[in-house]
Amino acid sequence: MTVDISARIDTLIEKYGKYGKSSEFERIRTAAELAAKAHEGQFRQSGEPYVCHPISVAEIVADMEMDADSIIAALLHDTVEDTDMTDELIRERFGDTVADLVDGLTKLASIPYSSKVEQEMENLRKMFIAMARDIRVILIKLADRLHNIRTLDAKPPAKQREIALETMDVYSPIAHRLGVTRLKCEIEDLALRYLDPVGYEEIITALERQSTVREDLLHDIIDRLRNRFAEHGMGDIHIEGRVKDIYSIYRKMFMQNKTIAEVYDLYAVRIIVDTKDDCYNILGIIHDMYKPIPGRFKDYISTPKPNLYQSLHTTVIGRAGIPFEVQIRTWDMHHIAEYGIAAHWKYKQGLTGVDEKYESKLEWIRKMLETQQDTDAEDFLSTFKIDMFADEVFVFTPKGDVINLPVGSTPIDFAYAIHSEIGNRMIGAKVNSRMVQIDHILQNGDIVEIVTSKASRGPSRDWLKIVKTNEAGSKIKQWFKKEKREENITQGREAMVRELKRLMISPSVLENEELVQAVIKKLSFNSLDELLAGVGYGGVTSVRAANRVREEYTRLKASQKISEPVIKEERPLKKSDSGVIVEGMNSCLVKFARCCTPVPGDDIVGFVTRGYGVSVHCADCVNVTTMDRERMVGVRWADVIDGRYTVGLDIHARNRVALIADLSTVLANQKISIHSLRTREIEDDAVVSITVSVSDRAELDSVCSGLHRVAGVTSIERSGSTGGVRL
Ligand code: MN
Repeated sequence: MTVDISARIDTLIEKYGKYGKSSEFERIRTAAELAAKAHEGQFRQSGEPYVCHPISVAEIVADMEMDADSIIAALLHDTVEDTDMTDELIRERFGDTVADLVDGLTKLASIPYSSKVEQEMENLRKMFIAMARDIRVILIKLADRLHNIRTLDAKPPAKQREIALETMDVYSPIAHRLGVTRLKCEIEDLALRYLDPVGYEEIITALERQSTVREDLLHDIIDRLRNRFAEHGMGDIHIEGRVKDIYSIYRKMFMQNKTIAEVYDLYAVRIIVDTKDDCYNILGIIHDMYKPIPGRFKDYISTPKPNLYQSLHTTVIGRAGIPFEVQIRTWDMHHIAEYGIAAHWKYKQGLTGVDEKYESKLEWIRKMLETQQDTDAEDFLSTFKIDMFADEVFVFTPKGDVINLPVGSTPIDFAYAIHSEIGNRMIGAKVNSRMVQIDHILQNGDIVEIVTSKASRGPSRDWLKIVKTNEAGSKIKQWFKKEKREENITQGREAMVRELKRLMISPSVLENEELVQAVIKKLSFNSLDELLAGVGYGGVTSVRAANRVREEYTRLKASQKISEPVIKEERPLKKSDSGVIVEGMNSCLVKFARCCTPVPGDDIVGFVTRGYGVSVHCADCVNVTTMDRERMVGVRWADVIDGRYTVGLDIHARNRVALIADLSTVLANQKISIHSLRTREIEDDAVVSITVSVSDRAELDSVCSGLHRVAGVTSIERSGSTGGVRL
C-alpha cells in the first residue's frame, strides 16, 4: 500500500494553520517526519504504514484546536514505547513540554485494564486522570482511542470486543466528564457496533427505513421555524436537523425496553444563536408554535452541567404528533458542548473577564483554574495541571485491582484497606517487586504486595504515627484494644491472686468450676476471663471480687464440695521478676510450665496462652511437640536473674535403708530446700521425685553431681523431659 506521507503532513499543517501559529509549522513538520522515520518498517493491521496512525491522531487533536505541543506529542505518542526513540531525544528536539506529554501518554499505555466491577472502574478512571497530570495528555489519549476504534475492523474479533469494552468503561466516561461530547458520541457509537452488532444494526436499519420520512419531517420543521423567526425579525439563524446518536437511542431502547417509535427525542433540531438573550427568545417562539411535553424543559444555561455543557432543551409535539427535541445555544456554548474542556480554553482566550456567575457554577473546573487566573490565556492549557484527584493516589494489588488511598499513604494503609488481617499480620511490603520500608509513600500506578506472616506479633504502636487513613488507624487501635483485653485479664488475675492470698485462700480455688460459676453470676459476668478483665481495668475491685470468692469458698467447704486447697508456692508473676524476656511484649505474665520446670540456662520456648500470658517450657519438654506452633513466641532468659526456680527431679536408685536421708543431707549441705518429695518403689529399685529451688542451671548441675555421689543412685532425670535427660 502506498500512502503519500508528505501529503498527509501537509493536510495536518493546513488544519492546524486554520487556527494556529505559522511559526509552529516547521516544528510540526519535523515531528511528523521524525515519527515517520521512527516507525519506518512498521505497519498497521490494515496494511498501511504505522505513521498514518499518529498523523490521524494529530489531526483529531487539531480538530479540537489544541496547541502545537499537543499536536507534536500526538505525532510522537507511540515512538518511545514502540521505536528506538528516547525521551531524551524528544526533550532535546522539542522541549520539556512535548517530552512530558509523550511521557504521560506512554505511562497511560501501561495501565492494565480488565473487566472490573463498577467501583473499580471508577477508581481506574480516576487513576487514569490522576496519572495523566496534564489535561492535554487525556485529550490526546482520547484522540488516540478514537482513531483506534475507527480502524478497529482490521483487528481480530476478540481484540475488537476488548477494545470496545474498554472504550465504554474507561474512555467514554472520561470524555463525558471533560465534556468532549462529539468525540464521546463517536467512540460510543463505534464501540456499540462491536459490543452489540445486532442491536446496532437494528437501529441503523430502522433509521434508514424512516430516512425519507425523517428528512421530510425535519425539513418541514426547519422551514417553519425559519419563517417564524423571520417574522420576529431574526434572520439568518443557524438551524440543523439531526438524528440522535445511535448509542443514546440504543440505551433508551434496550435499557428502558422501548421500541424505536417510543424514543421521544429521536429527531432533534439544534438552533445556534449569537447571544444568551436570543436563546430565551427562540425558546418562547418555539413554545408558541408547538406544544411542549411537560417535564422535558431543561435550562442548562442558568444551571450548566458539571462538564460545562450549556443549552436550553425542550421537547415539543410536531405535526402528526411526532415529538422532537430542540436544543438552543450560543456559538460559544456550542463549542463547549462539542469539545468540552478543550473549547473552554479557547473560550477563555476570546473572552477575558468572563461572566463571574457562570464561572462560579463550574465548581470543579473553577477549582482547577484558580491557580491559573493570572496566567496568559495562551498558556492556559499548558499550565493546566490536573488536581482533581490531587489528594488521592491509585495503586494496584498484585491481582490488578485498584485501591484508592489518600496521598501520602503507606503500605500499612494499603494492607488495612485490603483486610484487617492482612494489616495485622504484615511484616513487610514490596512495591513494584522491590522490598520497601513500611513508611514508604505510595505513588500512582504502584503495584503493592504485602508480605505477611502467621508468626507476626501484630501491628506496632508506631504505625499509628505513620498511617494516613482513618481506616488503618482505627483497625490498629482496635487490635490493641483486643490485645489490651489479654493484658487486662493478666493484670486482673494478678490482683485477684494477691487479694486471695491476703484472705488466706489459695488462688487455686479459681480452678473450681462450681465456685467460679457462682462468683461470676453474683458479679454479673459471663466468664472468669471477663471477670478478671473487669478487675484488670477496674470495673470491679479485686477486694469485692475476692470477697465473693471467699463467700463461695466458705459455702462450698461447709457442704464439703471443695477440698482444702494446698497453698502452693506461687511463681513470681511479673515479667521483671520471672527472669524471662518475651520478644515483642513488654509487661506480660510469664508462667513456668509444671511439666518441665525450666531453670535459667535451659533452652526454653514460650507459648501464648489464653489469659495466662506466656507459658515457658524447656525446649525438649514432651508437651512442646503437641503445642500449637502458631502460638509460639520468642523467649529468652534475662541477663540479670535473682529469683529461684522450682525444678522437678526423678532420682533413680537402688532401694536401701537411709537413701532418702542421704539424699537430703546432700541437698542440705548445698543449702537447697526440698519442696516436695515422693518415692515409688519398683522391686529393688526406687524412684525419688523431688522438687527443689535453684537459681540456675549451673547450681542444678552441681546439685545433681552431689546427688549422683550418693551410694545407689543410678541416674537422675528432669521431670517432663523427653527420653529422660541424664544428669
Ligand atoms: Mn496510538
